[in-house]
Amino acid sequence: MPKFEYAPAPESRSIVSLRESYGLFINGEFGPSVDGRAFKTISPATEEVLAEVTEAGPADVDRAVTAARKAYEHTWSAMPGRERAKYLFRIARIIAERARELAVLESLDNGKPIRESRDVDIPLVAAHFFYYAGWADKLEYAGYGPAPRPIGVAGQVIPWNFPLLMLAWKIAPALACGNTVVLKPAETTPLTALAFAEICQQADLPPGVVNIVTGAGETGRTLVEHPGVDKVAFTGSTEVGKQIARACAPTRKKVTLELGGKAANVVFEDAPVDQAVEGIVNGIFFNQGHVCCAGSRLLVQESVYSEVLTSLRRRLATLRLGDPLDKNTDVGAINSAAQLAKIRELSEVGEAEGAERWSAPCELPVKGFWFPPTIFTGVSQAHRIAREEIFGPVLSVLTFRTPAEALEKANNTPYGLSAGVWTEKGSLILWMASRLRAGVVWANTFNKFDPTSPFGGYKESGYGREGGRHGLEAYLNV
Ligand code: NDP
Repeated sequence: MPKFEYAPAPESRSIVSLRESYGLFINGEFGPSVDGRAFKTISPATEEVLAEVTEAGPADVDRAVTAARKAYEHTWSAMPGRERAKYLFRIARIIAERARELAVLESLDNGKPIRESRDVDIPLVAAHFFYYAGWADKLEYAGYGPAPRPIGVAGQVIPWNFPLLMLAWKIAPALACGNTVVLKPAETTPLTALAFAEICQQADLPPGVVNIVTGAGETGRTLVEHPGVDKVAFTGSTEVGKQIARACAPTRKKVTLELGGKAANVVFEDAPVDQAVEGIVNGIFFNQGHVCCAGSRLLVQESVYSEVLTSLRRRLATLRLGDPLDKNTDVGAINSAAQLAKIRELSEVGEAEGAERWSAPCELPVKGFWFPPTIFTGVSQAHRIAREEIFGPVLSVLTFRTPAEALEKANNTPYGLSAGVWTEKGSLILWMASRLRAGVVWANTFNKFDPTSPFGGYKESGYGREGGRHGLEAYLNV
């Protein structure tokens, strides 16, 4: 089926005013690092340098933790919940007001399509702050005792796939419960966290309640290992999650880890094929597959295999890949050269192990980091592309004959973050959902998020829950 020809519809960049360089946000102010080191952040779609960002060293992390401690003891933890709520509501409103600017900035720095940053990421960011603002004066009704206490200073490290949304998942519940935070954004996507720092200033948030320290993995390590941090929250790779768990094990720190995934998206023969195909596409090609809960393993019942695969290939051929700021773009840029190298490497391994590779016919831009939507068929359980997280627009397809086989294959993974089930039988949905070892199970849909809904993993996907009432527990002394 030919693609419609669409005229370019680029979103204007003029709403974003980038500074040439950004300092660290400590104690309510932007300032330089003690040792003056800096790095550049680029647009992954064009490799254009967007800004220079300060790299926080140990002395800077120490200053940030000290500021957070002071704010915790003297201001924030002592403030009545209804007063903290006012700040959170104010932040939520400013995010909603500046939504377009934040969406453009996110797409520039991350490479994700503006349609996603505008319609998914930023609305969810605002929704998280609104939701947890509502909890701030009702904590005694959350089920954690009559007078639940905050924990103290939270050290939070987030990844690059949903930069501002992961910040919201971390900061909103922490602040609602009365904690203060030091947050490190990912090295490749620091700009929306720095815009958030400006929003804290705009909202007159007391100095030190939120501190943003930019830098690479070493800055993250220094933060989580700082003795002044009482609670660690991390989202990222299982490998780094394990390092953090080891470092925190001999301490009294409370830890929550949200790590990788290799979700099964299970399509039964009675599923409506067109809807399932949309769900498969949304499951693995949303955000270029840079999604921890992506439906990266498609399990299709053998009887409908060729029908589903034919529809899926036809649908993929209509996806538009290119400029993330174009409102017609479905698939944006891969976030970094390093991530692109990893996707290429695992795809080559897939071919070498005997799986068959098919990529959507699309032209890749010359500059920047790009990978076409790709499907591997003939994949077996033993293949690396069926076991390891590729974190890119690559789908591995396996088949099954019976529900029991589907279940066994779906659970045959070291991960357990999410899963999808497609069937018109409610009883089969419930049978699968109660046996799938996954934190989230979507039925006849995929990648649906809501601040009221808890999210988190089983097994190597981590521990602790974020979102909803359950998400409060991680930030309360219970
Ligand atoms: P990392 O786990 O390395 O990065 C996540 C965050 O942790 C970043 O802010 C990173 O900083 C920081 N960090 C790195 N090392 C340490 C450390 N020792 N102590 C504390 N913080 C640290 O993921 P990558 O960005 O390297 O991605 C690698 C793979 O991880 C991906 O290919 C994907 O498979 C998986 N991943 C999973 C995510 C998920 O949501 N489950 C999210 C991101 C990645 P910096 O950015 O500077 O490296």
